[in-house]
Amino acid sequence: MARLVMKFGGTSVANVERIRNVARHVKREIEAGHQVAVVVSAMSGKTNELVAWCRETAVLHDAREYDAIVASGEQVTSGLLAIALQEMGIPARSWQGWQLPISTDDAHGSARILDVNGEEIVRRFENGNEVAVIAGFQGINLPSGRITTLGRGGSDTSAVAVAAGIKADRCDIYTDVDGVYTTDPRIVPKARRLDKVAFEEMLEMASLGAKVLQVRSVELAMVHKVRTFVRSSFTDPDAPELRVNGDPPGTLICDEEEIVESEVVTGIAFARDEAQVSIRHVPDKPGIAAGVFVPLAEANINVDMIVQNISAEGFTDITFTVPTADFERAKAALADAQDSIGFKTIEGATDVVKISIIGIGMRSHAGVAAKAFKALSERGINIRAISTSEIKISVLIDAAYTELAVRTLHSVYGLDA
Ligand code: ASP
Ligand code: MG
Repeated sequence: MARLVMKFGGTSVANVERIRNVARHVKREIEAGHQVAVVVSAMSGKTNELVAWCRETAVLHDAREYDAIVASGEQVTSGLLAIALQEMGIPARSWQGWQLPISTDDAHGSARILDVNGEEIVRRFENGNEVAVIAGFQGINLPSGRITTLGRGGSDTSAVAVAAGIKADRCDIYTDVDGVYTTDPRIVPKARRLDKVAFEEMLEMASLGAKVLQVRSVELAMVHKVRTFVRSSFTDPDAPELRVNGDPPGTLICDEEEIVESEVVTGIAFARDEAQVSIRHVPDKPGIAAGVFVPLAEANINVDMIVQNISAEGFTDITFTVPTADFERAKAALADAQDSIGFKTIEGATDVVKISIIGIGMRSHAGVAAKAFKALSERGINIRAISTSEIKISVLIDAAYTELAVRTLHSVYGLDA
């Protein structure tokens, strides 16, 4: 017997028929003797509709009421799934965030989970093995008693937090893809599904737009060491291979100690939503980097890659990247500070892409970066900026070369199927 959390996203609960399909997945695990807590999203498109209604009513609206409204999508699906399970003869009960409770801070619209109280659902596991169907995405701020939501895509985070809270053996994320791939299969048809990915690697891939999981959920899984398994909800719930105790198709996100043989490089991620800003002829003296980046921080603009040249005759150039959405604001903030910083010109580009090579194996291997630079240069691809961490090498290049670069790197590091 194991204790499982099963999480189903919006497309998996998009209508009553699919909710029945989800119930069959749950039934399979119950028949295998497991204890199950399910976390559900709203039906696909529902949250967008609710958000749009808030905006239509008032462009600037009370964040507490926004949460009261958008949390309702999950309330519906949790109730429906409980009914569908009961119809199959499986004891089941729905739970809203405030009922358990799942307590959060008071950052309405992007609240953080502080604690999940799983006592009652565990008691019911032990008493008749009742399935708990928990509304994802929502919680309660206990001091104010108000409903909160966790930010878009937050049901993944709910699921991992519930898994940590009830000490589940695994958190299964059922979604519309059957796992995490070495890169986006739409760009590289030879991309492979990974059997296992380390938390740290997944964090890099998630934050770089491998849109399988909300980044926060991966952070939480890493902190609490929740083994998280990404698998498809569209396989036949009664397929014989899902009944054996072997490995259904999917990707396990786990501690690196569980990964026996890791490749040097695990995946290639890319982010198109970055823009490059360069300021030229900056006086090279103490306080200049602060002079440039403090105004950006004050404008709440996230800076990613930063490159500063060695100065020549007392002047230098600084290049960095910001989210494309903040490009104009970043340039404006710098223009305001031009006199105090004392640079000559600002240049920028939005038609750029950041490509990242990710792998924990890099820590113990030399020459990983050199290989990428050589491969890119052989294809005539110019690198605008580079940044590295222990397990990641990122390069900024022209967006026009995205596919060529991703394919090239994917094959250079032996990732092609
Ligand atoms: N329903 C919420 C959203 O669409 C939460 C989720 O699906 O994870 O963002
Ligand atoms: Mg999602």
